[in-house]
Amino acid sequence: MSIINRLAVILCGYEFIPHSVSYDGGGDRFWHAVPVCAYLMDTDEGYIIVEGGLDERKLRDPSLRQRYFPQRTGYPTPLVAPQHEIIPQLAAMGITPADVAHVIQTHLHADHTGHTMSFPNATVYIQRADYDYARQQSPAKGYIPEEFNVPADRLQLLDGDTTLFPGLELMFTPGHSPGHQSPLLTLKNGRRFLLVGDVVDDRRNMAQNILPGGMTDREQARASMERIRTIMEEGAMGIFLHDAAQVTEIPLAPEWL
Ligand SMILES: [Zn+2]
Ligand SMILES: [Zn+2]
Repeated sequence: MSIINRLAVILCGYEFIPHSVSYDGGGDRFWHAVPVCAYLMDTDEGYIIVEGGLDERKLRDPSLRQRYFPQRTGYPTPLVAPQHEIIPQLAAMGITPADVAHVIQTHLHADHTGHTMSFPNATVYIQRADYDYARQQSPAKGYIPEEFNVPADRLQLLDGDTTLFPGLELMFTPGHSPGHQSPLLTLKNGRRFLLVGDVVDDRRNMAQNILPGGMTDREQARASMERIRTIMEEGAMGIFLHDAAQVTEIPLAPEWL
């Protein structure tokens, strides 16, 4: 039995990055624009959001951008065009921020936490290992701690694999970050989806067995990559958060998968 009726993929911006960020050993000669995605589930427990995307306000105001996205000289900042903003996309589906009951974070990099605090009634689920690590980090390291400074009464810290609800499992997949997790969904109609998060950026990593570019632990990253490969071989469709091609191939919000 599952509580999940439907899943939607929300495209919420782009980052322009060297291959070294996506592919271990990828170098900085070749660059690509990768999407940033978040996810929406319609469930018997209310709406569940996975990831907070990017905060467009911090990207558009020059002083905020300088403070929160201090890129290396010559590196572009991420792009959130109006059609990528999360809150208006939810509104177009008839959903207000107050309607969101739960928020799940795969991890806490700044391209995943922009709107984590935008849902005033939501319980937020984070792996403890990631929370403890990321709170000590800064924008220069790709983290914005105030974006996940969730009030204690709405914060749920998790320790490893967790079945959150029937049909919604959080698989512990560390390596890209110390406490990364990947939601594994079974819809009521039986379809299964694995929200990969940043275990790897895209399908090229999987096809060519290339580790992600950013890792806190290489052995964990390799094990997590093999774990998601097994889950996909068992029939779950892998949805890649930074896969530039896949995002053009699948239905996006306001459509449901
Ligand atoms: Zn990341
Ligand atoms: Zn990311």
